[in-house]
Amino acid sequence: MRIENDVKLDFDDVLIRPKRSEAPSRKSVWLERDFVTLHSKQKLSLIPILAANMDTVGTIAMAYSLHASSLGCCLHKFYPQQTLSIFFSEKKSSLSFYTLGMREDDFEKLASVNKITPVNRICLDVANGYSKYFSNTVTKMRLAYPKAIIMAGNVCTPDMVQELLLGGADIVKIGIGPGSHCSTRVMTGCGYPQLSSIIECADAAHGLSGLVCADGGCKQPADIVKAFGAGADFVMLGGMLAGADECEGDWLGDGLKVYGMSSREAQTRYYSQVPEYATPEGRCSIVPPKGPVSGLVREILGGLRSACSYVGAGRLKDLSRCTTFVRLS
Ligand code: 5GP
Repeated sequence: MRIENDVKLDFDDVLIRPKRSEAPSRKSVWLERDFVTLHSKQKLSLIPILAANMDTVGTIAMAYSLHASSLGCCLHKFYPQQTLSIFFSEKKSSLSFYTLGMREDDFEKLASVNKITPVNRICLDVANGYSKYFSNTVTKMRLAYPKAIIMAGNVCTPDMVQELLLGGADIVKIGIGPGSHCSTRVMTGCGYPQLSSIIECADAAHGLSGLVCADGGCKQPADIVKAFGAGADFVMLGGMLAGADECEGDWLGDGLKVYGMSSREAQTRYYSQVPEYATPEGRCSIVPPKGPVSGLVREILGGLRSACSYVGAGRLKDLSRCTTFVRLS
C-alpha cells in the first residue's frame, strides 16, 4: 500500500483567475475547434461538447438538435441496427459517434452497420478501461477500422491514457466516478478527482498528439469551462442535458427518469438482470423538464464565451493556455 499526498482537485475546488488582456468581446470568441486525429488522420470540426451515450440522453433527437448548433453526440448503443444504419448514412450524423461496449454482439452490430454505411466515428465505452483486454480491443478496433476516429475509455490516469493512445485510440475518455448518476466511488472507493485527472491526462495525451474527452461531473456551465481550462479537448455531458425535450425514456409527472448505465434499472432493462458476481454502480433520479436542448446550449456557450473573454482567450483553443486556477480554501 502507498499513499499519494499531492493535492488532487475537483471542479468545486477552484476558480479561474480573471486576467488583464486585450480580450475580444464575448461576441467574437471562436468556440469551434478543428482537430486532425492521431491515427485516423480524419478531420473533425465542431464545438467540442458531446452528449453522453446514456440511453436517456444520447438520442437521435439529441444528435440532430446538437448538430444544428455544431455540437456532437455519442449515440447510445441500444438502437436497432437498421435505425443506426439509416442514422449514420445521413449528413446530420457527421458530429455523432457510434457507441459500443465489449460484448460480442456489439462488435457484430457495428460490423453490420459498417457494411451498409461506413462508420467513421466510434466510441468504445466501458466503465473500467484498465484491463489488458480493453487495450487489446482498442488495437483490434484500430486494425479493423483504420479510418475511423476512435474514442475509448474510461480511464483517469496518464499511464492508461498513453497505453490507449499508443494502442490505437485517437481520443481517450477521462472520468472514473464523477458522473451525476454514477455510484462507483460509493460502491468501490475507486476514482480520481476530475479536474486533476483532466490536467494530468491531457498533459500525457497532448505529448503524444492525442486528445482527451472529459466525461462526467459537470453540473453547471462553469464546470465545462474549468474542464476546457484544465486541457480537455472535448467535454461530455449527461446530467446537464438530461430532462431536455430531446431525451427519451420514462417521462413521469415530475420529470424524466434518468439512471446510470450501470444501475440496476439499466441492467435489468437491457440485460434482464445484474450478474450474480456484480453490484450496480449507477443511480436513478427524476430530473425536471428543461425544454429544448437549444436553450441549455445557449447558456453553456454563453458561459464559455464569457470565460474566454475574462482570461483573454480569443478562441476556445486558447482557453487552457490562458487559464490560471485559484484554489479555494
Ligand atoms: P454526468 O455528465 O452525468 O455527470 O456524467 C456522464 C457520464 O457518467 C457518462 O458519460 C458515463 O461515463 C458516466 N456514467 C453514466 N452512467 C453511469 C453508471 O451507471 N455508473 C458509472 N460509474 N458511470 C456512469
